[in-house]
Amino acid sequence: MHVTMVGAGLSGAVIGRALAEAGHRVTVVESRPHVAGNCHTERDRDTGVMVHVYGPHIFHTDDAGVWDYVNRFETFLPYRNRVKTTSRGAVYSLPVNLHTINQFYGKTLRPDEARAFLESQADTSIADPQTFEEQALRFVGRDLYETFFKGYTQKQWGCSPTELPASILRRLPVRFNYDDNYFFHRFQGMPEGGYTVMVERILDHPAIEVRLSTRFARDRTGDCDHVFYSGPLDGWFGCDLGRLGYRTLDFERFTYRGDYQGCAVMNYGDAEVPFTRITEHKHFAPWEDHEGSVLYREFSRDCGPEDIPYYPIRLVAEKALLGAYVERASAERGVTFVGRLGTYRYLDMDVTIREALDAARLFLDTAASGEAMPAFAAPPV
Ligand code: FAD
Ligand code: UDP
Repeated sequence: MHVTMVGAGLSGAVIGRALAEAGHRVTVVESRPHVAGNCHTERDRDTGVMVHVYGPHIFHTDDAGVWDYVNRFETFLPYRNRVKTTSRGAVYSLPVNLHTINQFYGKTLRPDEARAFLESQADTSIADPQTFEEQALRFVGRDLYETFFKGYTQKQWGCSPTELPASILRRLPVRFNYDDNYFFHRFQGMPEGGYTVMVERILDHPAIEVRLSTRFARDRTGDCDHVFYSGPLDGWFGCDLGRLGYRTLDFERFTYRGDYQGCAVMNYGDAEVPFTRITEHKHFAPWEDHEGSVLYREFSRDCGPEDIPYYPIRLVAEKALLGAYVERASAERGVTFVGRLGTYRYLDMDVTIREALDAARLFLDTAASGEAMPAFAAPPV
């Protein structure tokens, strides 16, 4: 069969590779001039620093199959994400851990003492936290919430933490030891040559043709036997029911000679500081040595029609609109919606790869049995 992948991000590349290896002909159509989607990396000519062009990407997973998969195409070197935050005139360690608690309160608590102390700060009247704010007040108390989370979250999401679901904060642990690793996962690392080299290798197969700087239009669906679409779900329908809400990011790039901030990611918790964080890209490749430095100040705002959609805003209004698009998409034939934009979800890279491998398997199984491939291989809600 001839199958088209719309998008050369991880979704399109991984599905395309699996189908090519199974004997199908694959065309990958990508509107950008490069592959790898949002995890695209590029070496800066002046400094030699590997830049994460669309924002910092750290690979972390518990899925041994996905870890083996990425290591097949690129060497991953050890990397631990250790984030700091500048809030109310001091620098603290994130995620909230024993060091953060002791430094913030000027104490020398041991783990059990810190646990009891934070419980005394918490609002224990909140039995079942629903909102971001309730989750924070219940588990870390008002002081830590207002210093580390309230201002940052307002900047990041453009609304009050009282309007956001508790699930956003649940992504972050609170630790009663000195472990400052931002993620819990068993496997964590950075691709030695960057993500784009890895994706180029995934796409390097004689049965795969990649067309860059080419926009796919829906009326071209008939040119092939099936389409995997990793573009925005509402975009497939010309956004005719309205736009699904996204936050976009503006990166203010600047350079420095030497080491600007001493770490890869410095968050800014205060509402008065207009950006959410500064990333210093050379620290994502600690095995490299560069005199010059490339940095991004990151600003978050509502996504307009011409902006790059980054974070789906899944509030009540969006959920209703999403439901309407999902219903229409489910009735489409010959197309499967995949990836973070096609299913309107925040997906980490490892989950994206796992879902892409599963979608490819489902396609091969349905093709073998003569059944129709569904519009969604992974449920979009
Ligand atoms: P994308 O990477 O968005 O690829 C989709 C591609 O489709 C794009 O290249 C787009 O140009 C193309 N396209 C869309 N429409 C069309 C069309 N009509 N015609 C042609 N081409 C089209 N994950 C982690 O695991 N760790 C991290 O640290 C991490 N950090 C992140 C930081 C930020 C700021 C963001 C936004 C995401 C982060 N992620 C991270 C998530 C990661 O970016 C995604 O998991 C991954 O990019 C999803 O891949 P995808 O192929 O589904 O989508
Ligand atoms: N967050 C915060 N302060 C911080 C870091 C994170 O308030 O210093 C909040 C913010 O709302 C963010 C959420 O916690 O969206 C989850 O954090 P994560 O690092 O997973 O952020 P994301 O991946 O959304 O950038």
